[in-house]
Amino acid sequence: MVYTDTRDASVKTDFKTAVVNGMNEKTGGLYIPTSFPKLDASFTNRTTDPSFRDIAFEMAKPYVAGEIPDNDLAAIIQDAYPFPAKTVAVDSHSYVLELFHGPTCAFKDFGARFMARAMSYFNRGEDSALHILVATSGDTGSAVGSAFHNVPGLDVTILYPEGKVSKLQEKQLSTFDGNVRALKVKGTFDDCQKLVKTAFTDAELRAKLRLSSANSINISRLLPQSFYYMYSSLVVRNASWRNNKIEKPAIIAVVPSGNFGNLTSGLIAREMGAPITGFVAATNTNRTIPDWIATGTYEARASVETYANAMDVGAPSNYERIKAMYTLEQVRALFASYWLDNDGILASIKDCFDRTGYTIDPHGAVGWKAWSDIRNGGFEKLKNGEKGDYTKPGLTPNLPVWYQEVLNKNALGIILETAHPAKFSETVANAINRTPVVPDRLERVLQLEDRAIPMENSYSQFKEWLLANL
Ligand SMILES: *Cc1c(COP(=O)(O)O)cnc(C)c1O
Repeated sequence: MVYTDTRDASVKTDFKTAVVNGMNEKTGGLYIPTSFPKLDASFTNRTTDPSFRDIAFEMAKPYVAGEIPDNDLAAIIQDAYPFPAKTVAVDSHSYVLELFHGPTCAFKDFGARFMARAMSYFNRGEDSALHILVATSGDTGSAVGSAFHNVPGLDVTILYPEGKVSKLQEKQLSTFDGNVRALKVKGTFDDCQKLVKTAFTDAELRAKLRLSSANSINISRLLPQSFYYMYSSLVVRNASWRNNKIEKPAIIAVVPSGNFGNLTSGLIAREMGAPITGFVAATNTNRTIPDWIATGTYEARASVETYANAMDVGAPSNYERIKAMYTLEQVRALFASYWLDNDGILASIKDCFDRTGYTIDPHGAVGWKAWSDIRNGGFEKLKNGEKGDYTKPGLTPNLPVWYQEVLNKNALGIILETAHPAKFSETVANAINRTPVVPDRLERVLQLEDRAIPMENSYSQFKEWLLANL
């Protein structure tokens, strides 16, 4: 596969370069494949449910062709995904895609585990470790730490702002041993990010240590997230024949979004032939993308804190990839968009529980409410000429081409449940007066010893520590 750059289409590079560099430092652009080959019809036409790993392997193949042979790719997929992506029916027209069955109970495990194994693969034969530096405000750090833990040839240093992540997040970040460690920085997330960025531009440091990053802009995190869209849309289409008595459903992926990496992966799956008709881009109060769809003007802004805090992003990095793939008109045809404030998030968790018995987390709740509003007259109002106010929570005044499918009750929603509700116990308990059951793997991490290393917000101290300890 040839990869290019969102800012310069004359750039041509391979998968290894895209993975190891993360982004193109010369242009500041993001790597993107030059084509999205269709998955073989023997997968997309079959009426029995596929296996997740088979789909994953077939979808990954063209993106690593000539760089990772089939048997090595199969081993990477096998090792990365010992857990399922579960699709659960919650009512006659709605499914929840549970992406929290991985080790850290959030969807980022899917991308991070593939990235870790791809990086390790490309580092074979080097005689020194590749050092990954990652700044986190909470969830990314644990997914990356867990994904790279004990992966050969790689070494991870996580920086997080002391006192600014939840107790559970801190445990998930700071209890690794061996090749993964965490520094608790006396500062903010932005300070952590700045320390990491300064290290990357420090020529003296880079001459001594091989450094790389593991953030969400890396293409090796996006590609594997497309696997579960393909898998789940096929499962839902098959189930629809059996259970919903809808022969040709319009499948809509409802995606709670922050940086829009997850949604971009959905676009890739659709390009590759997943039976997905459209998307709902659902955000919390950080409504940069819904505003763009409403007004046509993209305006990055500072992020605002919400209950769905893994989506607190004011300048979504994958806007750049979406723009490289589609025009604004195409986006408006393909996407409904929606945003929800904190009160709405609590009300949605309760509404989902009361109506279906399903306990949804604050991120998934944004998707649940978007889908409910769409099914309960949201599109009728827009169709009848009601203008809608994009500065108020709710559906963005934009009718995607598939709206009639919803009016005809021919549309099935897949709501992506991006985290386990027990990771946000307090918010969930506030909404429904009961505490979600904590999975064993989260319970266990709470018992582990905290190993975080204290660090001043000082580049010279950070650098000294890196040189002394890596
Ligand atoms: C990271 C994250 C999101 C946002 O995903 P993007 O790819 O950044 O849009 C949503 N929910 C949870 C739980 C997350 O951890």
